[in-house]
Amino acid sequence: MRYHTPSTFEDAARLAAEASGITRFLAGGTDVLVQMRAGAVIPDDLIDLKKIPGVSEIAQTEEGGWRIGIAVPGARLGAHAGLCADWPGVVEGMELVGSTQVQGRATLTGNLCNGSPAADSVPGLVAAGATVEISGPSGLRSAPVEDIPAGPGKTTLQPGEVISAILLPPRGTAGGDAYQRFIPRTEMDIAVVGCAISLTLDGNSIASARVALGAVAPTVLLVPEAAAAITGTTLDDDALAALTTAVEAACTPISDKRGTAEFRTEVAGVLARRVAKIAYARAKGAEA
Ligand SMILES: Cc1cc2nc3c(=O)[nH]c(=O)nc-3n(C[C@H](O)[C@H](O)[C@H](O)COP(=O)(O)OP(=O)(O)OC[C@H]3O[C@@H](n4cnc5c(N)ncnc54)[C@H](O)[C@@H]3O)c2cc1C
Repeated sequence: MRYHTPSTFEDAARLAAEASGITRFLAGGTDVLVQMRAGAVIPDDLIDLKKIPGVSEIAQTEEGGWRIGIAVPGARLGAHAGLCADWPGVVEGMELVGSTQVQGRATLTGNLCNGSPAADSVPGLVAAGATVEISGPSGLRSAPVEDIPAGPGKTTLQPGEVISAILLPPRGTAGGDAYQRFIPRTEMDIAVVGCAISLTLDGNSIASARVALGAVAPTVLLVPEAAAAITGTTLDDDALAALTTAVEAACTPISDKRGTAEFRTEVAGVLARRVAKIAYARAKGAEA
């Protein structure tokens, strides 16, 4: 195995483009190193990104959004007051990943690029309208987070492409987001269903919304029909019922030992109602 420590994303992208065998990037390593130790994946080239300047930083953008380095671990997100105030749903999704030890290493980017449909931080990023900056053989490009997962264990990143940052838009006023998951145990388990919602208010009425679901399809889903069901409403009972119908219609889950497809579909509706109420309360400035 060749272990690389590039000092720029251009070099990381070049190394990845030139590699011909199994290639992995190393961020926190909580997926990659576990897979290596289990013998499931033995990379020919392991490209450690942590020596690249700026990868551990969280910075406010000129527009008032946030730029999150690809090596920022979950624990640092949770300790960042500005990020927690603007995007609590994004932070709480990442904080559900693993244990205290895992939180010291695991990153948003690794969670996204591991390609799990149940990845806990991804619905929150999708609901937030986050984008990724990608360095590749033809320079920089950006893409919405929902365009990155391609199925279990797969992404749409092309050979030689590496994510160089995650960007969250400005929160603005009267906005709120939230994420919840259902797991059979109280912690350290994989989401059977996850749901994130971000919304903005105009007075008491929902002006815009984004609804994302995890673990109910081969990739995390953005569900515009669910957003439309609550937009223009005050999240009254009719809106919550319409939200439930739209969310359930979007689900195409598998059945396995952790939940049947029917169970997952019903739980998705329940979580969407709960998460919508929390996001709405946060947008009103109420603690939720
Ligand atoms: C005990 C334990 C509990 C866990 N619990 C949860 C949980 O509750 N919920 C959950 O969602 N996950 C969980 N995980 C999985 C894991 O911790 C997360 O997926 C984590 O966020 C991965 O981030 P990382 O930085 O460690 O990624 P790494 O292991 O470093 O990388 C993961 C993948 O992303 C790719 N990658 C990394 N950085 C980049 C980049 N910049 N550009 C392109 N590709 C890149 C790598 O090539 C690799 O394929 C758990 C893991 C463990 C060991």
